[in-house]
Amino acid sequence: MPKLKPSEKKGIYSDLSQNGFPKPKKAHCFQCQKEIWIKFVLPRQEYSQKNDWVYWTGERGKKKICDPCLLEFYHNKPLYWNTVKNLKKRQQIRTYIYHGIIAA
Ligand SMILES: [Zn+2]
Repeated sequence: MPKLKPSEKKGIYSDLSQNGFPKPKKAHCFQCQKEIWIKFVLPRQEYSQKNDWVYWTGERGKKKICDPCLLEFYHNKPLYWNTVKNLKKRQQIRTYIYHGIIAA
């Protein structure tokens, strides 16, 4: 097998951390512009959807939201109920907040 040039190596491996799993992804909260890190969830083998605005609301696009902004949104009930219509997702948000997975 031909040896890879360092630049090629980097291209292949740069998304993986040293343990071979995908690295956290950097994103920005669309509300406050704060930097957030999206973790890879090993048991689910996918990136966390906790800070994924699109996941909660069903909107199109790639918006991410930080925990404090998500909490603030959650407590703004008229807006929250109007935006997150999916009952399973409402329950999931509640569970995440209850267990401190979403925390300010
Ligand atoms: Zn934010």
